[in-house]
Amino acid sequence: MRVLIVGAGIAGPTLAYWLRRSGHEPTLLEHAPEPRRGGYLVDFWGAGFDIAEWMGIVPELMRRGYIMREMREIGADGRRVASIDPGDLIGLAGGRYVTIARSDLAAVIMTAAQGHGVETIYGDTVESLHDDGDAVHATLRSGAERTFDLVVGADGLHSRVRRLAFGPDEDYERGLGIAVAAFEVDGYAPRDEDIAVAHTEVGFQALRVALRDGATLFLITFRHDGPIPEDDVPAQQAVLREALAGAGGEVPAILDRLADARTFYFDTASQIRMPAWSAGRIALVGDAGACPSLLAGQGSALAMIEAYTLVRELELAGGDRIRALTAYHDRLAAMVLDKQDAAIGLGVAFAPRNGLQLVARNTIMRMMTVPFIARLAMGRSLRDQFELVPPADG
Ligand SMILES: Cc1cc2nc3c(=O)[nH]c(=O)nc-3n(C[C@H](O)[C@H](O)[C@H](O)COP(=O)(O)OP(=O)(O)OC[C@H]3O[C@@H](n4cnc5c(N)ncnc54)[C@H](O)[C@@H]3O)c2cc1C
Repeated sequence: MRVLIVGAGIAGPTLAYWLRRSGHEPTLLEHAPEPRRGGYLVDFWGAGFDIAEWMGIVPELMRRGYIMREMREIGADGRRVASIDPGDLIGLAGGRYVTIARSDLAAVIMTAAQGHGVETIYGDTVESLHDDGDAVHATLRSGAERTFDLVVGADGLHSRVRRLAFGPDEDYERGLGIAVAAFEVDGYAPRDEDIAVAHTEVGFQALRVALRDGATLFLITFRHDGPIPEDDVPAQQAVLREALAGAGGEVPAILDRLADARTFYFDTASQIRMPAWSAGRIALVGDAGACPSLLAGQGSALAMIEAYTLVRELELAGGDRIRALTAYHDRLAAMVLDKQDAAIGLGVAFAPRNGLQLVARNTIMRMMTVPFIARLAMGRSLRDQFELVPPADG
């Protein structure tokens, strides 16, 4: 089967890898001119980790990733409010847990896909898609015209394929009233190696992690309703400055470094909820069809699970595409919805709305310093209640 995969993030290259391994002909189409670097860190574990093991990429993920030794919450005066040892939580995940730059995770998966000879086109996207029932005719922005048996949108939260094939964003996107900024600067001090240091006030959380090359990654989540300026970094940074005006602790020093950020990511925290992930010969995987939002802390793993399951269902259905696409959705939809519902409640941790929520949040953080309570609270989410069908070829 000739498959066009739009988007070379996490889901796209995973899908390409497994399609190739299953004997299909995938083409990856990425609108960025080259693989993205930097960005933000993701925690990666669970069933996604199983898939990474089957792909043979875990050693490289562990080499590039970080094992945090402390999650520390500090007050405006820099003193510790709470300190959690992630070792206990990592133990709960059977040690199969790594914190890694999203761009590194994407790059490692991409290398695996390309090792299987996947055609990859950078710097282009789909202009239009026409499904005539027998095939999908894709016109690319460059003017090229190609025909495929299946087109899969793996183009993230703001998916163009979703818009073209399923309708406007408003029909599926659910904003969570939080925006997120992630940026890296060189030479920031203090560093606190292998410690995720967070400072939270009413309305926001500012988190910093020292990276290996002397840079520091900042992840700021803050209350923000409504749209954000698109493709306009100065305007986005102005929104961030306004939201954090008057904040204490290191926040003014962090904002001072915004001007020399070497990467800057800015978006709203949103979920995508759809009644189906395919229509005819066009399907969606990853954030495009089922974004759980950054609050879930599991979007990357889910993106891989969805991509892998789509291919596995094609195999199990003996090539019956309609049966496979239906089974792909049926197998995963309830689990994804469960993660999405659970994520909504976590907004308080990332950006408390008021003083009461802040106090409650910090109290829970302090209780989590007791390993038994941490295990009780996190145990369920760190063990995926979900079994993947192992690969057919072992
Ligand atoms: C701040 C933050 C923290 C997060 N933390 C975690 C975490 O701890 N753990 C976790 O598992 N997940 C986390 N996530 C979520 C995770 O990053 C996503 O769920 C995951 O990247 C989804 O993968 P994807 O391949 O579906 O989409 P993406 O990774 O967004 O990839 C989409 C790709 O499609 C490309 N693209 C977009 N539009 C087009 C187009 N029109 N044509 C061609 N290409 C296009 C993009 O350039 C990109 O390469 C976090 C997300 C954020 C924002």
